[in-house]
Amino acid sequence: MTSYQMLIDGQWVAARSGATLESVNPFTAQPWATVPRAGAEDVDLAVKAARKAFYSKAWRGLTATARGALLRKLGDLIAADADRLGTIETTDNGKLYAEMRGQCNYIPQWFYYFGGLADKIEGRVLPIDKPGVFNFTKQEPLGVIAAITPWNSPLLLAAWKLAPLLAAGNTVVWKPSEFSSVSALEFGKLFEQAGFPPGVVNIVTGFGAEVGEPLVTHPDVAKVAFTGGDKTGEHIYQLAARGIKHVTLELGGKSANIVFEDADMEAAVNGVVSGIFAATGQTCIAGSRALVHRSIHDEFVDKLLALAKTAKMGNPLELTTQVGPVTTRPQYEKVLQYIDIAKKEGAVCRLGGGPATRPECGAGWFVEPTIFTGVKPTMRIACEEVFGPVLSVIPFDTDDEAVEIANSTAYGLAAGVWTKSIKRALEMPDRLEAGMVWVNMYRAVSYMSPFGGYKRSGIGRESGMDAIHEYLQTKSVWIDVAGNTANPFVMR
Ligand code: NAD
Repeated sequence: MTSYQMLIDGQWVAARSGATLESVNPFTAQPWATVPRAGAEDVDLAVKAARKAFYSKAWRGLTATARGALLRKLGDLIAADADRLGTIETTDNGKLYAEMRGQCNYIPQWFYYFGGLADKIEGRVLPIDKPGVFNFTKQEPLGVIAAITPWNSPLLLAAWKLAPLLAAGNTVVWKPSEFSSVSALEFGKLFEQAGFPPGVVNIVTGFGAEVGEPLVTHPDVAKVAFTGGDKTGEHIYQLAARGIKHVTLELGGKSANIVFEDADMEAAVNGVVSGIFAATGQTCIAGSRALVHRSIHDEFVDKLLALAKTAKMGNPLELTTQVGPVTTRPQYEKVLQYIDIAKKEGAVCRLGGGPATRPECGAGWFVEPTIFTGVKPTMRIACEEVFGPVLSVIPFDTDDEAVEIANSTAYGLAAGVWTKSIKRALEMPDRLEAGMVWVNMYRAVSYMSPFGGYKRSGIGRESGMDAIHEYLQTKSVWIDVAGNTANPFVMR
């Protein structure tokens, strides 16, 4: 068991109470590390440190170019350490090493991209309609940001927040998930090595109620940037509203992969399998509903079953494994409950449908890749986020019906469209209520392209040029250059 400390004001410290919590390896179901179990007192220290750093000469006095250089240096350090960080992520959250290593190797791009953007944050001079007055705008950082992240892609989702918020000149208190804090703490060491001044990045570990809530409600926090479940997001939004804080919410989804009758069948089968079984379905953009045109439904399902059956389960650290365990015991139990609900609702279980007890699954929390057909759009399995390897197949007859079903859930994170028709490829993205639409592909992300949800899937966007504006506010500056004395009782 390795024991970790957390990062407050440039110091590696235990929780003030001395309490710790265990991080459990989902493959072995055994604890492998301990991290501090912080509380409100630790949060207060971290926010104070972040506030002090925000106003410090060491951070505020840096030119935007120098700030950008720090981010790019950090990118280099992450790149050099990516494989090791990926191994830690897999040990912590049980997702495939192939995926976590890939993510960790990609993370530097966010720091290069936003590092490059740091000195391109420009204001404007306005041709103001008042003679003798000069008016310009400035883009300024917000202050202390609370970044709260989930367990499924711990470092990638943190980088989506940290890179733009630091490029914009803010400071941060980051609370990683209690299920996957170790990689965050290892990551924290790299900020130090890159030369970020103490207090600019603080990491406080612990539970949502004990660390997350005091952080969200802290009066010195200007913005909450949250990724997690929609119910937690709703609660955080309410708490943040009391302090009139800015928020970004990246929440869950129930994304539809729509397969039209003119689709390339092999590509679509491949895309639907990747959408739901990659990452064991534990991804916000999981394509958990396959909407399939009735004329190809049976052939498509046969091919889907044939491919899904070949998925190799086992130790997520092995590069040949394709489906790993579910990350946490509560999540494992939730997935199994949804499978039971679907069976009781009358959905037909065509593959899997329970815990995986193959020898290669060891003591881990494995669920068999599960496919239901005969799913009606109103069934709970078709409306609620399962966050596991469970696919609902729903037939449709017309384009209008496909759109209606796809848009019928409370969520709006992503959608996939499989077609050879250019008309559909252009028309469907217009009609689908989703922040990301992929046509003849699925599950692609980039530091350059905005990511975020419609409806209950969230507020705000991460990645891409616009993301930096989620961490900036506009100031309008007025200067009388004519020396006019105006009527004091009338607005100018
Ligand atoms: P979660 O909502 O349970 O927890 C997310 C984070 O919030 C954790 O750090 C947790 O400790 C913290 N938290 C919990 N209660 C809190 C409270 N009362 N106050 C403050 N913080 C609190 O989510 P999870 O189970 O860790 O992650 C899975 C969820 O995340 C899924 O719903 C998934 O769809 C969503 N997700 C969304 C995206 C996206 O970008 N849209 C990406 C990945 C995951």
